[in-house]
Amino acid sequence: MTHTNNFVKSYLETNKDRFKNVSDYIYHHPETRFEEYASSQFLASACEKEGFIVERGVADIDTAFVASYGSGSPVIGFLGEFDALSGLGQVPNKTAYEPWDKNVGHGCGHNLLGTGAFAAACATKNYLEENDLPGTVKFFGCPGEEGGSGKTFMVREGVFEGVDAALTWHPSPANSIMSLSSLANYQVYFKFKGVASHAANSPHLGRSALDAVELMNIGVNYLREHVIPEARMHYAVTNTGGISPNVVQSDAEVLYLIRAPKVNQVDEIFKRVCKIAEGAALMTETELSIQFEKACSNYIPNRSLEKQLYKNLKKAGIEPPSQDEISFAEKLWSSLTDGEKENYLDLMKGFGYSGDGSEFEGKYVSDTISPYLESNEILAGSTDVSDVSWVVPTAQLTASTSALGTPLHTWQMTTQGISSYAHKGMLRAAEAMSLTAVDLLNNQADLDVVQQEFKAFKDKNPYSCPIPNDVKPSILEHK
Ligand SMILES: [Zn+2]
Repeated sequence: MTHTNNFVKSYLETNKDRFKNVSDYIYHHPETRFEEYASSQFLASACEKEGFIVERGVADIDTAFVASYGSGSPVIGFLGEFDALSGLGQVPNKTAYEPWDKNVGHGCGHNLLGTGAFAAACATKNYLEENDLPGTVKFFGCPGEEGGSGKTFMVREGVFEGVDAALTWHPSPANSIMSLSSLANYQVYFKFKGVASHAANSPHLGRSALDAVELMNIGVNYLREHVIPEARMHYAVTNTGGISPNVVQSDAEVLYLIRAPKVNQVDEIFKRVCKIAEGAALMTETELSIQFEKACSNYIPNRSLEKQLYKNLKKAGIEPPSQDEISFAEKLWSSLTDGEKENYLDLMKGFGYSGDGSEFEGKYVSDTISPYLESNEILAGSTDVSDVSWVVPTAQLTASTSALGTPLHTWQMTTQGISSYAHKGMLRAAEAMSLTAVDLLNNQADLDVVQQEFKAFKDKNPYSCPIPNDVKPSILEHK
């Protein structure tokens, strides 16, 4: 049998330019949720060229696909994202803000994420092939993570059924296991319909939908005092009813994003927000319609799988950064605000970093792997990987692809998306994930431990998809 460690490392080394090209292609074709036609097609074709059987349009989503290789059990899955963000178009490899005309960019590094998971799937597939071993490798092309909960829809439609373990990662400034849970959320439109009229001549005949939106928001702002402190309620007024103050606005809407540590807590708050919306409609004599857009659950860590992933992240190791990479990172650090600089360790902690920062003194990029921590904390954010973690034992790591202090969803994150440092992080993540998959394919006992832990949780906590059955994935309407 080929030595696992050397096989995976040397496979990725030999094929690294191919993977860099895939990631850079996705970077240069940034597309927002559920409209990732170029990126999805490019990745799916790359899977076919590699010998995977690809099923496109899974879960009734055009840009979702599953690429499979091999047969029988175990079945190991890799989750890859590839969607970009509106408002984050930025010219690559710059140390200052320089927007590009597309105004859409990879401000969360999902070009690297999708490609790193794809590279892990390829390395694992080639290992199986080389050694003529049984088992199945699946690469899940998962669209619409940003504001879309693509994976939650895919879970609802049973796409992950039969998978024994799932692995994924996320780009960041840190190298660690993402051992934190995350916030569950609901995203819901509240749409009000009133009656238009001349605002000076006949205001008594008008019924203002914009008043309803404003009164609803005031009500929710009073509600904040009476929900658990971990809860978050954000809103965006997505339709003000027009730009004419001399018209009573007949249509207006507000989009709410409600978050809390557990999905049942979100549901409870959501029901109270609905009552406030009904109250606003009653006060203004407008009609209310509630349109559920998407939701995701809280993340369930699998400690046994995390430990295996951590062991393999250490095995993959870190190549020292080059002088050019350090100088570039130093300039990006200088571009951060004082608040962002102060926040840099908290940012790392959000990805599972557990130290006091002493190893980063005088540095601008991470060149270390953080010790593994079974964190009981909750990431102040949400991810649709969470719903996969309710149905398949799942573990995630982060690999450093950006300068210390780089917040996600910023021009600084976008500009670093095709750097040599980012490529190295992507391949490190691929190596750690592939080594873990190969361990699970070779050692049934390791997989048994992972599955026992998962079963113990599942027996007490049955899953129910937070997105109602009649809700379909929605594209970004307000770009
Ligand atoms: Zn992301």
